[in-house]
Amino acid sequence: MTTKQKKGNFAIDIEYGLCGNCGACVAVCPENVLHLGTVMLTSDNDDCTGCKHCIIFCPADALKLLKRPGDGHD
Ligand code: SF4
Ligand code: SF4
Repeated sequence: MTTKQKKGNFAIDIEYGLCGNCGACVAVCPENVLHLGTVMLTSDNDDCTGCKHCIIFCPADALKLLKRPGDGHD
């Protein structure tokens, strides 16, 4: 099945020194990429579509979007 936003082309980099494990990014991610662990945030980057909702809502500026080397198509 294809979707408009491609998964697998992006990854979220978590700056653990800044992250307060508040859960705001978890709540706004439409793809359920981010998860709160007992001590730290984790991510399932394969499902990230690069929408940046998590980055916009993070109060600590702890997230960065990385573009993975793709298949040459955008
Ligand atoms: S960029 Fe979008 S899909 Fe990727 S982790 Fe952030 S909110 Fe989720
Ligand atoms: S919104 Fe920012 S500070 Fe809160 S859990 Fe996500 S990365 Fe950490």
